[in-house]
Amino acid sequence: MALIVQKYGGTSVGSPERIRNVAQRLLEAQREDNDVVAVISAMAGVTDNLIKLARETSPQPTDREFDVLLSTGERAATALVAMAVNALGGRAISLTGAEAGVLTDRIHTKAKIANINPRLIEELLGDGYIVVVAGFQGQTPEGETTTLGRGGSDLSAIALAGALGADACQIFTDVDGVFSCDPRIVPEAMKMEEIAYDELLEMAGAGSKVMQSRAVEFAKKFGVPFEVRSSFKSAPGTVAKEEAANMEDVVIRGISVERKQAKVTLDDVPDTPGAASRIFSAIATANILVDVIVQSASDRNTTDISFTIHQDDLARAEELLTPVVQQIGASRVSSHGGMAKLSVVGIGMRSHSGVAARLFECLGEGAINIELISTSEIKITVVIAEKDAERAAQLTHETFGLARSGVAQGPVR
Ligand code: ASP
Ligand code: MG
Repeated sequence: MALIVQKYGGTSVGSPERIRNVAQRLLEAQREDNDVVAVISAMAGVTDNLIKLARETSPQPTDREFDVLLSTGERAATALVAMAVNALGGRAISLTGAEAGVLTDRIHTKAKIANINPRLIEELLGDGYIVVVAGFQGQTPEGETTTLGRGGSDLSAIALAGALGADACQIFTDVDGVFSCDPRIVPEAMKMEEIAYDELLEMAGAGSKVMQSRAVEFAKKFGVPFEVRSSFKSAPGTVAKEEAANMEDVVIRGISVERKQAKVTLDDVPDTPGAASRIFSAIATANILVDVIVQSASDRNTTDISFTIHQDDLARAEELLTPVVQQIGASRVSSHGGMAKLSVVGIGMRSHSGVAARLFECLGEGAINIELISTSEIKITVVIAEKDAERAAQLTHETFGLARSGVAQGPVR
């Protein structure tokens, strides 16, 4: 008998009908001779509503009460799923994160899992129950309720699968798997059969929000393979796992696009220690996330520094940087909204040369101007005008042959 952990996201349990569909799937898995643990998110929209309610009730709710409130969304959903299983003649029991043995640190609203004691779950499985666990939550050593950050049910599922030594962890969601690019942008995009943890992390970081990044990091650290698949279909999804030797044969696994970006440039920044620190400390005080950072080579003891932020943060960033420009003796700060980041991701880049050249050539031929470039070992990101993003993604997808089979690609020149 195998042990299987199935996680269902908010849309998968978004209505009574969908909850009954989940219950059926759980029973099917059990009938196929598995011990079954379900990890459930709050019904779609519930967490957002609770946050809104809190803000309308109090100008500054404490993080502790926030967690008590938010954890109720998952509790409600697990009880409903257990009821649905029971109504179909099965035997299910719902558990809160605390009851399931999820122990966290004391950082409310973004707690880290410290340890899982799955004893009760194992006992209940032994008694033949389908165990339905509330995702996104745990408790501190003192027994206070904590939550794991938005999208945290993914992390609950991966961590429970790891602690239980599960044979499989399936993340059921409203997409069919991980695609070579967003199919709304590139209709030929293909569902991948497999992806390395690092590739999924880079895709997520670059705007393809299939899974909570922390959950993928956890899976990587503890070696918990998982499958992302649709809760509305029976087709297999995409398996995320440790990289295998043959995975490097694929040069580019996927392309991700992040819109609504802004590019900020500081001109003639004195080439002295501490200048960059002043700039980015100012930005950090407002919790603005900075990505692609490029500093030009020093020319007459000054450099230009450019970086990207979300367009919504632009006004605030400009406000914060104006005094800094004066203080450090730079000549000016300028900015452009309406930008996008396009990233090509693949661990094959480590062993294949010419990927950057091929990317730039394809964008050049499409008359798409590259504003900034940044690279990691397995990712190349270009910042381009948002109006060109869709075309750029289609050209790149075509160039790297991602549509043909989802894996096979022509030789790199
Ligand atoms: N319900 C939580 C959220 O909306 C956790 C989750 O869905 O994974 O962020
Ligand atoms: Mg979710």
